[in-house]
Formats: sequence, C-alpha cells, structure tokens
Amino acid sequence: MVSSGGGTMNQMIRCAHCNCLFLPNPKVKNQRYCSQKDCQRARKRLWQQQKMAGDNDYQANQKDAQKTWRQQNSNYWSRYRDQHPQYVSRNRLLQKHRDSGRRSPDRLAKMDPLKQCSSFKTGSYYLIPESSGLLAKMDALITKVILIPVS
Ligand SMILES: [Zn+2]
Repeated sequence: MVSSGGGTMNQMIRCAHCNCLFLPNPKVKNQRYCSQKDCQRARKRLWQQQKMAGDNDYQANQKDAQKTWRQQNSNYWSRYRDQHPQYVSRNRLLQKHRDSGRRSPDRLAKMDPLKQCSSFKTGSYYLIPESSGLLAKMDALITKVILIPVS
C-alpha cells in the first residue's frame, strides 16, 4: 500500500485558481478549486465557457447532420431515378405535354396554385420527404415558408 502524507483518505490538493493547498470535499468529484469566493467564481466562469464551447459543438453537429442528410437525400433521388427509368421518362412526357401548350383554359383554372395554397398560413413548416425511412433524420430541418397573397 502506498502511503503519502500520513495515508489519510483526505489529501490536500492545490487549488487550480489561487494555488493554495486545501482539503477537498469528499462529496465533490474532481474538485479543483478551494472554497474561496474568487476561486468559485473562476470555476463558474470556466464552466460557462466550457458549456458555451459545448453548445457550439452541438450546433456544428446539427449542421453536419443536416449536410449529411442533404447528401443522402440527393443520393436517394439520383438512385431512385436510376432504378426507375420509367419515372424519368414519364416526367419527360409530362414536360413534353406541358411544352406543347395544348392545355385547355379549363384545366389551367383547376391548377390555379392560389386556390391550392389558400389554406396555408405563413409560418414554420417541416419539409418531410415522402419516404418515411428518412423521417427520423428530418427532425432538425424546419423551413420557414412565407406566402405572399396576390390580390
Ligand atoms: Zn483557491
């Protein structure tokens, strides 16, 4: 058994702020500061700095997660198009149809975007992909949608 300073359980440690020797409270883990006001203040300041640095890390992680999701999502769609060539050709056909300009005024009226959007309100919306497998990764993405009424 190693004995140092008389071998008692309580050993004096040096305060990280004022460098004085003090007896740490056995109930406090990893105590590094003595009970002096200045030292406690220094401890709190350091704790706040670490907390803010931690928050920055958290925000950076969130950004990374969103970036990763966007990458995965774009991969998802290019993969989808690769695996569903009929989906692409269908879109091309629709585009062709639109370009041909043979749409009747009747159908145009039905597709009036204002009517479709009239129940929307300005605010924050979740953009959720149709594939539910991606939902879990979507939590962090909120998109602000502002609708400007046209009168
Ligand atoms: Zn101190």
